[in-house]
Amino acid sequence: MTLRSESVGYVVGDVRILNDVSFTVEPGTALAVAGPSGSGKSTLLALLAGLDDPTSGAIMLGEVAPPERRAEIGVVLQNYGLPALLTAAECVEFALQVRDLPRREITERAAHALERVRLTDVADHLVEELSGGQRQRVAVARALVAEPMYVFADEPTSELDRALRGHTMTEVLRERDRGAVLVLTTHDDEVAYRCDAVLSLADGQVTSYDRVTQPD
Ligand code: ADP
Ligand code: MG
Repeated sequence: MTLRSESVGYVVGDVRILNDVSFTVEPGTALAVAGPSGSGKSTLLALLAGLDDPTSGAIMLGEVAPPERRAEIGVVLQNYGLPALLTAAECVEFALQVRDLPRREITERAAHALERVRLTDVADHLVEELSGGQRQRVAVARALVAEPMYVFADEPTSELDRALRGHTMTEVLRERDRGAVLVLTTHDDEVAYRCDAVLSLADGQVTSYDRVTQPD
């Protein structure tokens, strides 16, 4: 179940976007991918989630590539990818359709996921009526609700104020604590250093990898 990025490269036309990116993430651990804008964070996250294939090297989730584990991946994309004309609750319920669950359990689990990100009050509002920060948290709830083995989140707290950012990170880190592989991107050091390790990218290359010792 370990995530392995093995010398991953990604080239579009003659532009090299990622070069020789290698790391591993064990189940029950959280990796932050840090780096300035344009360093390749979103590209790497999309490859981890199986939305595209590396042009060289490989990503392995256990013994297989990400597209074969789609039902085990929860993802938060940078632009959220939420259907505008669904309600917040419907967006989250939709992520549970891959599980064969009774209707009532789907409703209850989606409500609980929205409660975790403090969106109970807007559960029946349409996505198009929500603020950016609310949409971001709907996307987080959708990624977590099915308890996937892999959680990949692209800057999942970038639109949140300080208090909500801390709270939402606590909820995201609970996924690690239940045993998931968690990878998130961020350019916020405070967010990055709540993870177990921080991989820094610059111009598509790994510049550092720090294990983090959490204060007691
Ligand atoms: P980050 O998320 O760290 O800001 P990105 O992964 O979005 O970085 O982008 C990394 C670099 O790759 C940027 O210079 C961006 O312009 C470029 N890039 C990303 N996707 C494509 C693409 N499909 N075609 C050409 N260039 C791209
Ligand atoms: Mg990005």
